[in-house]
Amino acid sequence: MAESEHSCREHLGIFTIAGELPLQGAHRDICYQPVRDNIWTASEGIYRTIFLEGGSGCIAFDTFGTPGTARAYRQAIERVFPRKPVHTIIYSHEHLDHCGYAADLAPDAHIIAHDYANQVIRARAADGQLAAADTFTEERRALTIDGCYFELIYPGHTHGDGNIAAYFPRSKVLVMVDTVADGVGYTTLMDWHLRHYVPVMKRFLSLEWDLFVPGHFWLLSRQRFIQILDYWERLFDFGQQAVLDGLDPHDWAALNRYTDEKLGPLYADEFRYYEYGAMNLYRYMQEYLTGGWGIEGNLAPPTGPL
Ligand SMILES: [Zn+2]
Repeated sequence: MAESEHSCREHLGIFTIAGELPLQGAHRDICYQPVRDNIWTASEGIYRTIFLEGGSGCIAFDTFGTPGTARAYRQAIERVFPRKPVHTIIYSHEHLDHCGYAADLAPDAHIIAHDYANQVIRARAADGQLAAADTFTEERRALTIDGCYFELIYPGHTHGDGNIAAYFPRSKVLVMVDTVADGVGYTTLMDWHLRHYVPVMKRFLSLEWDLFVPGHFWLLSRQRFIQILDYWERLFDFGQQAVLDGLDPHDWAALNRYTDEKLGPLYADEFRYYEYGAMNLYRYMQEYLTGGWGIEGNLAPPTGPL
């Protein structure tokens, strides 16, 4: 039986439903391509990550979000570098859909994460998500691992906990998950720290790079990165105005009509506008209705160059 056709019990994340969960073990095709220098990118179509070729092995960022996908990711890396096993995993952040299954990707790998992410991972104790052995709390940490040089950067709160970027100054490449992605997708989750998100992401413009690898969909230019941040920045005004116009964010039909009327003329051609436009507006309205979430949502965000 091929390793991708596991019949044994799969890791369950935080699912508690009894019985087999076939989706956990399902194989997904992983596409990969070189980015620049020793940087490669891998995707199953929606999610994206990178891996690095080192001198003796590979450094994998993230794990994908099921045991079957994590195994497919490892097999993809093995097809490119059959003599170079994954010896290091770096977590972008703590969410299971990106980083939940190191136990299936490379259970003996050395794992690195930001301290905030690792605190969540230890508390969560999800089945298949391994805690990091190596954490950091500083804003920038420079690493040379197996001949690969890069920096891990925690620019401030963006999404989830301990969400870090990887910066490759010699290749002029920046990588960050669940922040900027093409079109208007996402930014709908409650742990997207909206007050911090735009000013914190703009700090990356103080660094020299011209290619951005997001955690979803395809690679972006620096200009496109700036355009997408501009959309999220303008939504602060649209969100406030929607509240002041008396729109009920829980009236889904009215929310969609209002979104089409106000945002449609400007953004209807953006990727995934019809799925996400109204949800984006809903999220921004809730920021103004509630005052923002939690402690971090009400602290002043860091600004200034990195
Ligand atoms: Zn996430």
